[in-house]
Amino acid sequence: MHLKSLELSGFKSFAKKADLRFTSAITGIVGPNGSGKSNCAEAFRFVLGEQSIKSLRGKRGEDMIWNGGGDSSSATGRSNRASVKVTFDNSQKLFPTIDFDEVSLERVVHRDNSNEYLLNGSQVRLRDIVELLAGAHIGATGHHIISQGEADRILSASIRERREMIEDALGLKVYQWKKLESLRKLERTDENMKQVESLRREIAPHIRFLKKQVEKVEKAEELRKELIVLYKEYFASEELYINTEKQKTSEGIAGPKKELAELDLRLEQAKKILTDSKNKDTKSDKLISLEEKLKICRSEKDTITRELGRLEGELRANKRSIEKEQARIKDEELRMVRLKDVEEVVQVIEGMDAITDVKKLWSEIIGALRGFIAKHRSSVDSALISEAEKDIASLSGERGRYEAKLKDATEKEAKFVREYEELKSTIEKEKDTNREAEKDVFKIIARQNEVRHILETLTAAINVLAREEENFKHELGEAGVIVGREATEYSHGAIESRSMQEERRKKIEKNKIRLEDAGGSGGSEVMKEYRETEERDAFLGKELEDLEKAKQELVKMIADLDARIDYEFKSGILKINTEFQKFFTLMFGGGKAELTVVREARRKRKSDGEDLSDVLSSEDLRDAESGSSDAETEDGPEGIEVNVSLPRKKVKGLMMLSGGERALTSIALLFAVSQVNPPPFIILDETDAALDEANSKKYGDMIENLSKHSQLILITHNRETMARAGVLYGVTMGSDGASKLLSIAFEEAVAVAK
Ligand code: ATP
Repeated sequence: MHLKSLELSGFKSFAKKADLRFTSAITGIVGPNGSGKSNCAEAFRFVLGEQSIKSLRGKRGEDMIWNGGGDSSSATGRSNRASVKVTFDNSQKLFPTIDFDEVSLERVVHRDNSNEYLLNGSQVRLRDIVELLAGAHIGATGHHIISQGEADRILSASIRERREMIEDALGLKVYQWKKLESLRKLERTDENMKQVESLRREIAPHIRFLKKQVEKVEKAEELRKELIVLYKEYFASEELYINTEKQKTSEGIAGPKKELAELDLRLEQAKKILTDSKNKDTKSDKLISLEEKLKICRSEKDTITRELGRLEGELRANKRSIEKEQARIKDEELRMVRLKDVEEVVQVIEGMDAITDVKKLWSEIIGALRGFIAKHRSSVDSALISEAEKDIASLSGERGRYEAKLKDATEKEAKFVREYEELKSTIEKEKDTNREAEKDVFKIIARQNEVRHILETLTAAINVLAREEENFKHELGEAGVIVGREATEYSHGAIESRSMQEERRKKIEKNKIRLEDAGGSGGSEVMKEYRETEERDAFLGKELEDLEKAKQELVKMIADLDARIDYEFKSGILKINTEFQKFFTLMFGGGKAELTVVREARRKRKSDGEDLSDVLSSEDLRDAESGSSDAETEDGPEGIEVNVSLPRKKVKGLMMLSGGERALTSIALLFAVSQVNPPPFIILDETDAALDEANSKKYGDMIENLSKHSQLILITHNRETMARAGVLYGVTMGSDGASKLLSIAFEEAVAVAK
């Protein structure tokens, strides 16, 4: 037993709190007309979340609230709220999701028509209640709550409504909800997918644009790297080249510079020689005067020589006359000298002993001797000799003088000759030097030109190098700006041909232009944006994938649910039919009863082809099939038809049944359905009203049978039915218009019912 109690407070005619306890499988509620019995059944609908106030015999929620009543003496003030609380035993896990052994649901409606729902005292949403009940097979369509006069509702319903009732009774609503939920999710998923797709479509051109930019940036980066390599090679080579060339030229220029200085000096000297040679006339004059002097000197010498010759001749003539005289005198040599004369001489010589000087002594002695001789000769010497000797002496003196003169003249001449020769040779020599100097000047000038040319070439080369060095520095700076400092961090180069450097320079220029075309280096912003946009796109792609997966899962789930609903529905119908046939036979003592699944036909108007979605009855369908209707039909959802044939009666179809027959058929179907998938409880509000005594008995048997699976709450006036109830409640209404509830015995109940 699942149902424990129902508590009404301010609900409809139940002004005061009323408590129904369901301690038996069958609970009977009895009472006079208008006492408030149906309000109890409605209290169930109300608390289980009924949203149709109309089906609760009201217009607004407010109509559910005790509105006061009775005459002035016994009037009871109206309530502000109506509440109904139903309590279930959950020890058998009727509500598997709730851990408590008791589950109470409460609904409160206020005068402002607002509703509150409470689950075990905590406020919840209506949705939670509906879900909870659906899980416990207590459906919202109220297939287990048959209100007064509603017993044949299942028969009068359209085939589609009927199908819904059956589905609900078979407990397929849970699946349908799940399906509906899945469909809703599917719709949302589709919407999300569309949104994501449109977002992706939106960013796609941006990505394409960015990609192109990135490709450009990447290309630029590639170019930049190439340029760095080129620059490094270029700079290394260039630096080496410049340094080497600088050294070479500075070394090379030293020689020519020195040579030029030397040449200048030499030229100066040569020029001086040439200037000096202009003084040569003075020397010629000197030479001429020397020649004059020499001539005079030579004629003087001739005169002297002639004079000497004459003197010599005279001397020789005198000597010869002496010699002749002497030969003649030789004969006189035997002449006698007196001793006395000799002694005189000796005395003279002896008187010379005072002379100490030997030489002087000698010449004095000689003199003395000669004097002696001369004294004695005179007597013998001829005058001729003495004369000749006299001449000889003067001649000799003269000759000595002339000889000295000659000697002088000769020396003079020699001196003049020497001077002349020297001067002459000097002049000759000067002539040679001049010529040399002239030659030198030409040579020097020629060489100077050569050297100057060399120097000019070298200077030009140095200038070129200086310019190249300047360029080099400029290029270094430029490279730093264009491709970054890395390009300027080159290592050493190797000596190579200059044309290679030219090639490189051309390549560098080309690359620089290409790099500029590619937008220069940098572009990290674009890269970042591209990466981010790509990531976003990938994220959206992933999301789309996930959504697609979720969609597939939902589609599969829906298909599974469809299959399940279809299977459970069809097998449910088969089971219901078995039970239906049994109950029908029991009621009517024979005959045939069955449910058939038919496909509804939808009518399509020819004029506008609008889908009316009108649900047609089986009669319509038959009309359509026989071609008597001008409406076109097409396949619609499945519906359920009830086919019955009574025993011993030829007529078929529900339309042909009497009120009682109709009630019996309804009850048979109701019980069949409840048998197949028993709900925890069933409320039947005067379902037995139309039954005669015989059928009341059968009804009572069926009830007892049904109560084995479901708790029954029966509102009844029927004695037979009351007899089957374990517990009976009597409902009365006093003069205040408020219903009162009390547990009563069977006899009382019978009395009350009457
Ligand atoms: P019967 O046996 O004739 O079907 P019943 O016992 O089922 O009668 P109900 O239909 O449950 O009687 O009760 C109807 C009574 O409840 C009426 O008298 C009606 O005035 C009263 N009632 C309904 N709503 C309210 C309300 N909001 N406030 C006061 N009384 C109400």
